Amino acid sequence: MRLRVDGELGAVDFGVGTPEDPAMPREFGFEARVRGLRGGLSPRRRLATSWLLALGLFSASPRQEAPKQEPKDETFVRCIPCKNVGRLPCAAHNKAEMHLEDDVLWCSTVAGCATCGGTGWLDCADCENLRWLGGLATKRSRQDGLKQAGERFDTEMKRPLRKVMTPHFVLVWEVDELKVDKRAVKHHELMHLYATRLEKLFDDYTSVLQASPREFKERLQVFVWSKAADQNEGSTRFAGQHSSRGVKLLGGLAVYSLLVDRTTFRDDEALHRNVVHNVAHLILSHQNPSQWLGNVKCGWVDEGLAHWFEERYWGLCDNYCYEEQNTNVDFKGGKWKPVVRRMVAENDLPSMSDVMQRNTDGLTLPMHALSFSYVDYLIAADAAKFNALCRELRKRTEPREALKKHLGVSALELEERWKAWVLATYPAR
Ligand SMILES: [Zn+2]
Ligand SMILES: [Zn+2]
Ligand SMILES: [Zn+2]
Ligand SMILES: [Zn+2]
Repeated sequence: MRLRVDGELGAVDFGVGTPEDPAMPREFGFEARVRGLRGGLSPRRRLATSWLLALGLFSASPRQEAPKQEPKDETFVRCIPCKNVGRLPCAAHNKAEMHLEDDVLWCSTVAGCATCGGTGWLDCADCENLRWLGGLATKRSRQDGLKQAGERFDTEMKRPLRKVMTPHFVLVWEVDELKVDKRAVKHHELMHLYATRLEKLFDDYTSVLQASPREFKERLQVFVWSKAADQNEGSTRFAGQHSSRGVKLLGGLAVYSLLVDRTTFRDDEALHRNVVHNVAHLILSHQNPSQWLGNVKCGWVDEGLAHWFEERYWGLCDNYCYEEQNTNVDFKGGKWKPVVRRMVAENDLPSMSDVMQRNTDGLTLPMHALSFSYVDYLIAADAAKFNALCRELRKRTEPREALKKHLGVSALELEERWKAWVLATYPAR
């Protein structure tokens, strides 16, 4: 963000902040302008000025004397309408939920509102807060483009769908209510909760693997339906394959469509874990160069990394990808570290070279656990190298060659190191 201060100070460019945070999409970039900082300031505007002073921004200007201390009583000036926030929630919507809008770029709940321009907020006319200056206007100006991007989903389903857009996702959310931590949460808040979870996962993925957000070209699409008929139709229309429970399209266009009803998930945590597992597949497959690894004999990376995120957050893996997802499958209760340790200690396991030449649908249950553990080892050893290996495999480089190039080992050597690491680090129970 660049901050410019016009008026008597001249156009002083303080150049604060980063020019282009790669983690932020273009939609979040804006230029804040503060006008008339000196002379004729209302007490409220002076508050904004002192806020600037507190940040030490003026000291960046060579032309500016060190500012004099503001008289003491002025620090108690308050903006009553907005309680010093600098903006007000739009009265056309549920006020308590408007803070949720800050985490998304576009939301169907507030979209098209003439009062707030689809942002959920109005600038406070009585004060200015740098945090919101320009941001709301920029968000408003980008609403039309984002609306158009989402309209084709409505057209396909012949009705307006509930949806949000975030920097890296489009989330269509058609579930009315779910219990989250014993509280019944309604669709708008729920949709935002899941949108936030998706972005968190994306953030975690890119920071763990030291990948750049620029390696992802399109928004990943997640459709959550509550009616079987919608899942049937939505999966066919958007993921290109019919599935009654859940199905993914992977690669250059990455889509996950799933049904959430009493028959599919026992609670919010189970759903969240399923979404994490499957969206990890989406992220990995879409990352440049886009390629699903699950059908080019690298199922171990595909499943291993998806399980790794389940294990990272819950210490539990209970999602498996078969042709048709089967939520009743279980391998040793899903707590895999002790299971893998036992397999290694008893030498009762398929070889790494066997596991590493299968597609996702060719992995047996023990192989899912081993795939998780290979990924666990490679991330622990050097996550950036693992990321480079994944990229190489997505380029369709021969796996043996890719291992040699990025890890400097053969599958046999890698297997010996991995086994030693498992025995040294995994708990026995
Ligand atoms: Zn919203
Ligand atoms: Zn509004
Ligand atoms: Zn105000
Ligand atoms: Zn999977």
